[in-house]
Amino acid sequence: MNALKEILVRRIASLGPMTIAEYMAEALVHPKYGYYATQNPIGAGGDFITAPEISQMFGELIGLCLAQTWLDQGQPAQITLAELGPGRGTLMQDALRATRAVPGFHDALQVHFLEVSPTLRNEQSKRVPNAQWHSAISTIPEAPLFLIANEFFDALPIRQFERDKSGWRERVVTVDDGTLNFALSSPAPLAALNHRLDDTKPGDIVETCPTLPAISAEIGRRVSEHGGAALIFDYGDWRSQGDTLQALREHSATHPLETPGQADLTAHVDFETIAVSASPARYSLLTPQGVFLERLGITARAQQLASSLDGEALAAHIAAHRRLTHPAEMGNLFKCIALFPEGSAPPPGLEI
Ligand code: SAH
Repeated sequence: MNALKEILVRRIASLGPMTIAEYMAEALVHPKYGYYATQNPIGAGGDFITAPEISQMFGELIGLCLAQTWLDQGQPAQITLAELGPGRGTLMQDALRATRAVPGFHDALQVHFLEVSPTLRNEQSKRVPNAQWHSAISTIPEAPLFLIANEFFDALPIRQFERDKSGWRERVVTVDDGTLNFALSSPAPLAALNHRLDDTKPGDIVETCPTLPAISAEIGRRVSEHGGAALIFDYGDWRSQGDTLQALREHSATHPLETPGQADLTAHVDFETIAVSASPARYSLLTPQGVFLERLGITARAQQLASSLDGEALAAHIAAHRRLTHPAEMGNLFKCIALFPEGSAPPPGLEI
């Protein structure tokens, strides 16, 4: 049994069951044994691969999309270009390179990263040395906010509730025979889930993300007060449906309670909560990633890059384009939503 699992087993044995959110928070951000404290998760040698690591085209198009939004909003003089959970810093590096030619954009921006992992902060500083780092969104300076979040919200701890006849039973982590196991709490009504009584039946599972509404509200307030826009990418749907908690270790699925701190834990994102919490900011239609990238011209960019490639490099480039956009790959599974101020148009590639 790994060290963190032993700590959690002892804690549950003496204090009682933990919510899944409490378990996820320990497994991901425990300062000594947590996943983000100990692992270098992203890329071929890590546990999972993300869109910016598949192709430079992803970061380039997102950078250009935000630069065009900046132009459309009258080129505000000093802006915050923020990224939540920037991973290895690849997306921002590609976005900055692609927007170098946009007159005035680089003079106006300062990059701010929200990042919990010391290992990943170090990776980010290699690619974006002039960034400033934050542990909470609240310390990012108040200014027109141009924000990117790719696969950030799926890493936030979730709680799970199973529908009972008239209320909900929380799915919790308990200890059986000295090891971690899932169990259900006693049924209780839950006002926060009243709106889900109509579209669920007994036995259905609904997930909530306790820290998400405040983060989205902060983005929405800043975008509304100062201008700017947020582009949020993740896997998920308009409403959370079912048990989506998953653990990935070395590119394979594993049981979420098997090796806490050694596997990445994620859950699908509930985009409705992101959109509604961001009020008074407006939100775009939830759009498949493939559609969004096609509208921004990924095929033209792919052809341009292909013209200087051949052999294996060309085959890898064609496969990367397909992987990002094709409905059977990431094109449909991943969705994009924008938050933007009342009175402004949504960023290019998105509509209301
Ligand atoms: N956007 C990157 C990485 C996605 S992985 C990419 O597309 O490659 C999730 C990222 O969010 C990592 O950088 C992780 O360290 C960070 N992260 C996860 N939980 C966090 C939290 N609570 N606060 C700040 N950063 C967090």
